[in-house]
Amino acid sequence: MTELPDPETSSRRSFLTRSASLAALGGLTASTVERSVAAEPASGVIDAHAHLNHRSRDSWEADDRALIDAADRLGIDRLCCSILTPKRPSTADGFRECNRWMLDAMKRFPGRVLGYCYVNPGCGAEAVDEVRRCVGDLGFIGVKLYNEYFCTDPIVFPVIEAAIEFGVPILQHAGHAHHPLPGQPRISDGGRIAELAARYPEAKLICAHICGGGDWEWTIKALRHSPSVFLDTSGSVPDDAVIEMAVRVIGADRLLFACDSSMTTSVGRMRGADLSTEDRAKIMGANMAKILAGKKR
Ligand SMILES: [Zn+2]
Repeated sequence: MTELPDPETSSRRSFLTRSASLAALGGLTASTVERSVAAEPASGVIDAHAHLNHRSRDSWEADDRALIDAADRLGIDRLCCSILTPKRPSTADGFRECNRWMLDAMKRFPGRVLGYCYVNPGCGAEAVDEVRRCVGDLGFIGVKLYNEYFCTDPIVFPVIEAAIEFGVPILQHAGHAHHPLPGQPRISDGGRIAELAARYPEAKLICAHICGGGDWEWTIKALRHSPSVFLDTSGSVPDDAVIEMAVRVIGADRLLFACDSSMTTSVGRMRGADLSTEDRAKIMGANMAKILAGKKR
């Protein structure tokens, strides 16, 4: 989770998301219009990795609203969100409370906000039961895992197996740094996610935020031979040509547009990417829509 958008920048960006009718207002070139239309697939634009706020934060309600307002201005139709505990490792009570608030948000923003169920796999049966309750009974669309454990730790496997049973994705917090991250000793990287995918090829794993810091080039290459793994495009790192390389190396079918709260950087990255209309539509929403449709009900 990083910055919320600067309102001035987002309102300028919003022009880029509103297509042909706005051309009449001036300032839009034909290619900009073409690109914005292309960015809106039939499935709508889906942010595959978003967060709402823990209610220990005084401004949680206004901050949630600000995220939705930013999505409005940036042309994002649906946001796949989770709420995390501010202190981790999370307790079972801690993640259950987050998921209750998530459910409340799904009701406050119906059809707009979709929920990932957040759990700490270290809580054993309580974590698996929570996945079953949220995904099986309450309409959550997937599971969010943070860095309490490496994703290859056997303690995580029952949660992966529950997600497989429901046919829902697992969004795994990830990053590959070339130096130790003292605050995140158990952060997973693309290599570990590839290892998990080899063990569970039927799992729909999403490697989070390739632009969230760390070596994105390493991450993309690490997942080259893991056809069941998706990569989300979010993050605050404004490096050039990440998306083009990802499409070249792993293909557009496995990329999911996301912001992870870095709204303008993440949207700008996609707007600036040199992509075919077809690939753009897949990444902006069609791929995630397919994943969502795969849930076993
Ligand atoms: Zn996240």
